[in-house]
This record gives sequence, C-alpha cells and structure tokens, in this order.
Amino acid sequence: MLVTDQNKFQAIISHAKEYGFVFPSSEIYDGLSAVYDYGPWGSELKRNIRDAWWNEMTRMHDNIVGIDAAIFMHPTTWKASGHVDNFSDPLIDNKDSKKRYRVDHLIEGFADDLAKAGKHEEAEALVAEMDRLLAASELAGLKLLIEENKIPCPVSGTVNWTDVRQFNLMFSTQLGSVADESDLIYLRPETAQGIFVNFLNVQKTARMKVPFGIAQVGKAFRNEIVARQFIFRMREFEQMEMQFFIKPGTQKEWYEFWKTERMKWHTSLGFPADLYRFHDHTKLAHYADAAVDIEFQFPIGWKEVEGIHSRTDFDLSSHQQYSGKKMQYFDPEINQNYVPYVIETSIGLDRMFLLTLSYAYTEEKWTKEDGGEDSRVVLRIPAKLAPIKMAVLPLTKKDGLPDIAGDIIKDCRQDFYCFYEEKDSIGKRYRRMDALGTPFCVTVDHQTKEDNTVTIRNRDTMKQERVLISELKNIVKNSF
Ligand code: ATP
Repeated sequence: MLVTDQNKFQAIISHAKEYGFVFPSSEIYDGLSAVYDYGPWGSELKRNIRDAWWNEMTRMHDNIVGIDAAIFMHPTTWKASGHVDNFSDPLIDNKDSKKRYRVDHLIEGFADDLAKAGKHEEAEALVAEMDRLLAASELAGLKLLIEENKIPCPVSGTVNWTDVRQFNLMFSTQLGSVADESDLIYLRPETAQGIFVNFLNVQKTARMKVPFGIAQVGKAFRNEIVARQFIFRMREFEQMEMQFFIKPGTQKEWYEFWKTERMKWHTSLGFPADLYRFHDHTKLAHYADAAVDIEFQFPIGWKEVEGIHSRTDFDLSSHQQYSGKKMQYFDPEINQNYVPYVIETSIGLDRMFLLTLSYAYTEEKWTKEDGGEDSRVVLRIPAKLAPIKMAVLPLTKKDGLPDIAGDIIKDCRQDFYCFYEEKDSIGKRYRRMDALGTPFCVTVDHQTKEDNTVTIRNRDTMKQERVLISELKNIVKNSF
C-alpha cells in the first residue's frame, strides 16, 4: 500500500524555505526547474550528513579510502561506461499541449487509472506489454501501444502524439573555445566512474589489497524529465558512492555484507528501522548481477534513498578495453592477476537530506495547564545531524546576561555549532529553535550571576533543568 501525505510534503517544502534550509535556485528569476540552493541551516545539515557518511565509510573501515575526482572526465569514459548508448529515457510529446512525458510514466499513470476503475487485468496487461517493449527498445511499438489504448495527454486530453524518442540524460558542454564535435564533454551523471578510472592509482599509492573500497562524495548531473518532487529528483545533485573491489566469485557474500552494513548506518543515525525496507530489482541494469534499493517511507510514498549494486567486472573490463590499459590486480594469495568484481553502495546526499526532514518534521498541538491551546512545529533531527546543536539565549539584553551567554559560546564553539539569540521573548526563541531542529536551548538568567547555573531545555521533551555552566559542554557532546 502506498501511503502518501501530500500535505506534509508541501509543509516540509514551505518550512525548508521559510527557515533557511532550501531555496529554489535563482528564485528572483522565478527559479530553475529541479535545481535548488541550500541556505544557512540547510548547508549545515547537508555537511553533517556528508560527514557522517564519509567518517563511517572511510575512518571506520581500515580498507576504504576516499578520493575527490573532477566532474569533467575524458569523453571516452562515458562510452566505456555505457552512458552514451544506454543512459536514456524514452519520451513522447503531445502535439497539442506541447508537453513532454516519459513514456513509462505516461503508460503507468493510465494503468493506475484503469486499476482505480476496477480494471485490474487490463492494467496489468498494459504494463506487462510496456515492459516487454521497453526491454526490446521497440519505440514504434510503444507509440502504437499508446495510440491503441487511446492514452490521452493529461493536459490537452488529446491522443495527438509525436513518435517516441530516446532522450539521453547527460548534460554536455564544450571543452575549450572551439565548438567542435570532438570537444564535446559531459557533466558526470554519476560519481562512480571517477573511482573506476582511478582504480590503479589508488590501489598502488594507498597500497590497498583486495578486498578494498574507494569512497567519494560529489556532484552529479542528470537532465531528468520528470522533475517535480522538490529535492527528491534534481538535475544537479550530490552522490555519496563507494566502490568495493573484490575477488571474482565472492560477490554474493560481499553484496549481503554491504546490504547489512548500509542499513545499520541508517538506523545508527537514529532513524527507525520500520521506516526502511529493501526492494530487490527484478530488471537489472546492463552492468549488474544483483541490485537492491534501500527504500524509505517518505511522505510521497516508499521511495529509493540508496542503491546497492553488484556490478561484476563490467566497468573495469570496459575501461580496460576502451583505454588499452590493464585494469588488473595481482593477488599475492593466489598468485594470479584478475579484474576485480565490484559491489557499489550509492546514496543521494540530497535524498538523505529529504529523508531527514521527512522524518524530523512534526506538528504538535496540546492543551496547556490554563486550558488554552498551544502548538509548535519541531524538527526532530537526530542530534548528530542537527545544524545547530545548542542555542544560548540571555533572558534579557541587559544586566550582563549577554556577556555570560557570549562566554558560554566562546567555550563551546570549537566543539559544536552554537547559536546566539537575544531578540523576542524566550517562548518565541524556543519555537524558532524547535523549527530549526536545535536539540538544546540554554537560557542565561539572573540566577546565573549568583550560582553559575543555567537552564537547559530539551527540544523533544521541552523539559528544562538547571545545570552548572561547566556541565553544558558534556551534556551536549554526549547527545551525539
Ligand atoms: P531513480 O530510479 O530514483 O532515478 P536511480 O536508480 O537512477 O534513481 P542511481 O543511479 O542508482 O539512481 O543513483 C544512486 C542514488 O543517487 C539514488 O539512490 C538517489 O539517492 C540518488 N539520485 C539519483 N538520481 C537523483 C536525482 N535526480 N536527484 C537526487 N538524487 C538522485
């Protein structure tokens, strides 16, 4: 069952903008479709997610090292990887509305409507036929299927369609100043290839022995056709990928190992296991012999956040063939050369960001002691990922209280992100910090001057306790 909550999704998008997490790109010019900018608190949250992944994958594993490869790569890379020939979606345009659709989305949408009208068998048959035609790349057959079923354009309502065409998702540009076909290069659509082409450089310089991994975080670009789900599907996004090089024949056990390991990472951050599930791929990409998605229950339904792929020796062998350079490893244990197999873990940083907001965003209402109603929006972001860890709030702007607050911040800011605020009532400041997901608010009041104590308020329970200033740093540090 698909559980969706469009209202919650819309609320998250508005909240993200209002509180400085995510803005539409170049908004003063009405934005750019499926491109977003991260604001002050969004960039902090994103950095914390990136660091959590990076530290887990590199520091916590003796046999994984990181790299930072360039976005531009030699164009033959994308021939070898299969992206020039295979990285495309079949599209169709409606001649009346001039709207463009991904063929599979158009047909699936129509099949959904059939199913809702109780015509389940017809819907299943339609999707099965579509799958067959897609697998065989029969573009004319797909057009015929749309016409025979009289599938209308959701905008114009007509069946006046163009031919189906394959549309490559890679962005291209020119290297240098001459616009010549030979200078055409691509903005990488995945970070993985930067790892594959550096396989030997890394293996030799970091003295790695199979099995070992190479991790990387970086931008990727895809000219996505359907791009209307906020940061779920973007045209410019960031991936956190790790390629794990193994002896051929051991791929099943390493695939299982990484499935378990990656799921553990998600739950160790504080996200509940019951919001996750594995989804095995039945249709495999040209390079894979097994693939699974880690799905999360987003407000827009169960969706992929991370993929784990057993990529065989496809990439290294292909680069070996195209470059003419040996991409082999000499295994001293068996005295043999081989092209290693690869298990890949690939997660979208922006999608993990959306996951975090989806889990954290909570609207609460309650009745106060005096019988009145109260409410708040709170982001229950796990403390480790929260942009601000501690806000320090002087009760008033005078009597030396701001100076004490300033000293607390000076003492703690080396260890975690602190935030100072003196404007508005304490209640309003608490609400604002709740909306930013700040786990702790520290209030400096007149008693502080007498006994060096402050109140510390917990974001989730809203409980306050009085503690010594000297205890603050440890309380906050121990929470993540
Ligand atoms: P999808 O089926 O959602 O298009 P995919 O299977 O093509 O994704 P991969 O190529 O396996 O995705 O990419 C790995 C990860 O990168 C995905 O799990 C996702 O988190 C992220 N990702 C892929 N495309 C996008 C995008 N357009 N915007 C944001 N994140 C993306």
